[in-house]
Parts: sequence; structure tokens; C-alpha cells
Amino acid sequence: MKRQTGEDRKGQKCFRCGRELPPGNLAYVTQIRIFAGFDGLLLEPEEGVDRQLTQLLKQVEQSNPEDLEKEVYQEFHLMLCKSCRDRLVDELEHPWEGPFRIRQKVLDKKITF
Ligand SMILES: [Zn+2]
Repeated sequence: MKRQTGEDRKGQKCFRCGRELPPGNLAYVTQIRIFAGFDGLLLEPEEGVDRQLTQLLKQVEQSNPEDLEKEVYQEFHLMLCKSCRDRLVDELEHPWEGPFRIRQKVLDKKITF
């Protein structure tokens, strides 16, 4: 693994809050991969396979190849400051509690964004 030097980090900002990430300070690399899932189940279309295939091919011809690729696979590399890293992890661990809880937590700590 290549060690990142201070020069590599020069001018980098936190993806979420935009705060400067000075070389030598703590920052977090976040890698997100989003890809289409397949559960192995193929449903028989009501209108028939041939008709659905024709519609699908027409749809593909009219679509932008880059957009189609993004629907199947997309990757993000983000740099985050510690505060935004903590918030992201908290939201990932407690998604069902929604943004209200996060907002309340921010108010409790008297942090302004
Ligand atoms: Zn941040």
C-alpha cells in the first residue's frame, strides 16, 4: 500500500462540509460501491418475454451508455473530516432513527453547520 504524503493531501477538502483537510491531520477515505443486485429470481412477464425484450432493447438504444453503466455499477471515493465521518457512521448504524435524531444530537452538542 502506497503511503500518502502530505503533498498528496494538499488542497483537499471534506466532501460533506467542505472543511480544509490539512496535510498531516486526521482524514478519512470513504469508498462507496453501488451495484445492481440480483436475487436469482426471474419473473415471467405478463405481456410475454418477446415483447418485454423488444421494449428493453428499444429502451437501451435510447439511453445514454454512461447512464446505463451507472445504473449497474458506480463507485465513489470521498475524503471526510472526523466530524463528518462520525456522522456518516452514526447514520449508517441507525438509519431508522432518521434525520430528526441527528438534528437533535447537533442541537445537544451546540454545533452549527
Ligand atoms: Zn466534514
